[in-house]
Amino acid sequence: MRIVVLGRQGSGKGTQGQRLARYLGVPYIGTGDLLRSESHRDTERGREIRAYQTDGALVPAQIVFELMVRELTHPRAEQGFVLDGYPRIDGQPQILAGVIEPHRIDVALYLEIGAETARRRLATRKVCTDCGAPYGESRVPRTPGICDECDGSLERRTDDVGPAIDRRLRQFEELTLPLIDHYRALGVLVTIDGEAGTVAQVESGVTRAIDVRRT
Ligand code: AMP
Repeated sequence: MRIVVLGRQGSGKGTQGQRLARYLGVPYIGTGDLLRSESHRDTERGREIRAYQTDGALVPAQIVFELMVRELTHPRAEQGFVLDGYPRIDGQPQILAGVIEPHRIDVALYLEIGAETARRRLATRKVCTDCGAPYGESRVPRTPGICDECDGSLERRTDDVGPAIDRRLRQFEELTLPLIDHYRALGVLVTIDGEAGTVAQVESGVTRAIDVRRT
């Protein structure tokens, strides 16, 4: 299955996207994570990406496109993928459809949460600097500051601060939200309430909805 995940920042796209990918046995491709690992390189491109991400601004489309195509055309994505973070703006659904074969996605999974919940979650979120696993109000690490999965250290993201949060949430409203209508019109939209219960409860809602689409 070829799935894109959409939702406000803090809606659980990464968490649920990774779980869904594991469930389906396909790769999880997070453009934010791909860009973050590029940004740690001491290269001109790394520094450029870091500056955009820290400001909460969108990274130039060409850079994102190259990283995304590299992942989507890799043999491991032949049986499908869960793509988080792309498309993000008008025109990108068509660009995405153009690079995959067949030229369509099967499900656009929209994890719906309100803006206030998003703000609250981002203000308390920490992520593992090694594996990217997110922690917050719904997932507390067994040892404070240490990742349960890989023992990496947990830190706040540089873009999870006031002005960058505001900017990213505004971007979602203005640029990404219209894509929901695009996928609804194509008949592939699946909307899940991202505030209804625990991570595990949301996960079972997601897998149930996806299973219906598989049969
Ligand atoms: P995320 O991890 O999805 O919250 O993304 C973090 C940051 O990565 C965003 O604020 C952007 O700076 C950058 N980013 C991720 N995906 C894209 C994209 N499709 N286009 C442009 N910038 C992106």
